[in-house]
Amino acid sequence: MPFAVPKVDRDRLVVLLGPPGAGKGTQAKRLAQRYGIPQLSTGDMLRDARAKGSELGKRVAAVMDAGHLVSDDIVIALIEEKLADGSTKGGAIFDGFPRTVAQAEALDAMLTRHGRHVDRAVLMYVPDDEVVRRNSGRRMCSKCQRTYHVEFSPPKVADVCDACGGELIQRADDRPEKIRARLEVYHREAPLVGYYEGKKLLRRVDGIGLLDDVYDRLARAVDGNGDDR
Ligand code: AMP
Repeated sequence: MPFAVPKVDRDRLVVLLGPPGAGKGTQAKRLAQRYGIPQLSTGDMLRDARAKGSELGKRVAAVMDAGHLVSDDIVIALIEEKLADGSTKGGAIFDGFPRTVAQAEALDAMLTRHGRHVDRAVLMYVPDDEVVRRNSGRRMCSKCQRTYHVEFSPPKVADVCDACGGELIQRADDRPEKIRARLEVYHREAPLVGYYEGKKLLRRVDGIGLLDDVYDRLARAVDGNGDDR
């Protein structure tokens, strides 16, 4: 750890915003470890549902592969379940949720029912051409979902997961034409950034650079006490 976790007694409900492939998943995992709280990734939950072949998985498969957003109701229900099960006591890193203003409003309403509120939203800024470059090199383990990048974080053995030996695959929505579609979807939801800015919860962090440097910037943005907003 580059610097100590501040001992501040607070409910760290952190929303991580940024384009697909900004590194939200990787950084969310590290931040979750830093604070000892779970990472809540709706993308991972939906991919899990697909891997299990559940009804939900079947319903969302085509929409996900096209790079479009699944309906607000579905992802809101997934998050509601997590908020109700007690695992987020102390906080959570929301990764890939909310993606729309309607989802952000639903999250606020759910949290209010639990007497809680979003503590901070952090936007990882990465320009579009960099997003395309990063996503097209991304690979994911077909078994444990660990992610790699052919250039920036390759596995020890090509196409094989270091952690579980599973086969590495390219997500259908990481093909270049699908990445463009996902970027379009992302830019259409730009008001989401304004939503958190309006609530004075937003911090912007440069998402370009070494993983460790970006992580340090994020951790500082999340650690802040709030009086420095
Ligand atoms: P991600 O892993 O966050 O890039 O999500 C992969 C895909 O899952 C997205 O392209 C959407 O199809 C779907 N998805 C994940 N999170 C959401 C969300 N909050 N709202 C709608 N669709 C989502």
